[in-house]
This record gives sequence, C-alpha cells and structure tokens, in this order.
Amino acid sequence: MNIDEIIKSLENEYGKRVWSEHRDPVSELILTMLSQHTSDVNSRRAFDKLVSDFKTWEEVANADPDDIAQSIWTAGLANVKAPRIKVILQMVMQRRGSLDLSFLTELPMNEAKLWLEQLPGVGPKTAGCVLLFSLGLPALPVDTHIHRVAKRLRLIDEKTSADKAHRILEPIVPPQEIYSFHINMIEHGRRVCHAQNPKCQICVFTSTCPSSKIGSGKTTASSYTMDSNKKPVR
Ligand code: SF4
Repeated sequence: MNIDEIIKSLENEYGKRVWSEHRDPVSELILTMLSQHTSDVNSRRAFDKLVSDFKTWEEVANADPDDIAQSIWTAGLANVKAPRIKVILQMVMQRRGSLDLSFLTELPMNEAKLWLEQLPGVGPKTAGCVLLFSLGLPALPVDTHIHRVAKRLRLIDEKTSADKAHRILEPIVPPQEIYSFHINMIEHGRRVCHAQNPKCQICVFTSTCPSSKIGSGKTTASSYTMDSNKKPVR
C-alpha cells in the first residue's frame, strides 16, 4: 500500500479535511505547550482561562509565573509549564521585538522549524503544530496516534521514534495533503486503530494492513464495538 492509497482510503472513510486558519502563531504555540502530557479538553480549558485572565500575551510575558500557573492548572504540570511559557514569550520578544511570528512564513520551512525548536520545550511536534495549524505550511506534526498507526501500516519501522517519524513521514506526504492526512490519521487512531485492541475487523485497511489481526485469531468479536465517542480534532 503506498501513501496515496492510504490518504485516499482515509479520506473515503473520514472525509477530506480542508485547512482554515486556527489562531495566531503565538496563541497556537502556547496552546500546544499546554497540551503536552494532557488531554485536549484540559489544555483548552487552561488556554481559555489564561486568555481570559490576561489581556495580552505581553502581559503573560511580564506576569509572575505563580499567577500564570494558577490560570493554567487544569493543564497539569502548571509549575513547569508556567515559567516555560513566560520564558518563551520573553525570548520571542527579545529575538523579534514583538510577539508576531508571521515572519516564519518567509523562511524556508526547515529554518522556520529550527527557529521554533530553539525555544525551550519546543520540539518537532510543537513546531509542526504552529506551522501547520496557524500558518498553513506543509509541516507534519506526529502525535501518539499518528506514530502508532504509521508503524502499523509500516510507513515507519517499529523502532522509529516520534521525533524521527516527522522527518520520514513529512517528505512522503504530498504537501497539499498534509493537513487532511494529519487530521484523518488521528481520527483513525482514536476511533479504530486503538493502542490496545485495534478494531481491525471494521478497519478500512483490514485486507491491506501488514499488522491486521484478522485471521490471526488474536482478536475477538467483543473487540469490535464501534466507539461512539467522536472526539473533536482541530
Ligand atoms: S488493520 Fe488493524 S492494525 Fe491495521 S490500521 Fe487497521 S486497525 Fe490498525
């Protein structure tokens, strides 16, 4: 199965996802920082509280980290995330003279990534989220679902780390398909290709996936109840 067939099958199953601007790049950066090691629900709650408690990101940059921590406690690790957010905002202001990151679209994408990854706590996934969601660039953030599904479909091998997976997957997905591929792989991981008991029997890749358990006797009928909880994705 090649990448085009995978993209097509996912779009037949979940629809073609079309990018639209999410939020400004600094807001995306802070939201993604908050989402580390917690659920989307908790990180969005923390983000909304932070935005309502402080009028501007400049205010957050100058705030006491304890006050920031109080706003974002629902995201967990507040005492780690709060000072980090403050330092990131201060570094952006020092390096750019403002909190406007739109200049990143003028750089070659790899330079834009490196620029972001020099900020504390910003790795390939966080940088990719800012570039893809906010700026519409063809960066591919690899989360836990994409990492798992890509391994099962043998797009990457079993030993490839999530950080390394960015460098392997991004060049093989056509740039105009990256957003749709990203969203649909996450959807597939959440709804069908679960970490435990993947629902191979109802999977769009049942007959083509090298990891399909159909016929191996490892799965049971009770594993195939469709999850009705459709968690919203970005
Ligand atoms: S066939 Fe099974 S292992 Fe393969 S992608 Fe589908 S659910 Fe995942």
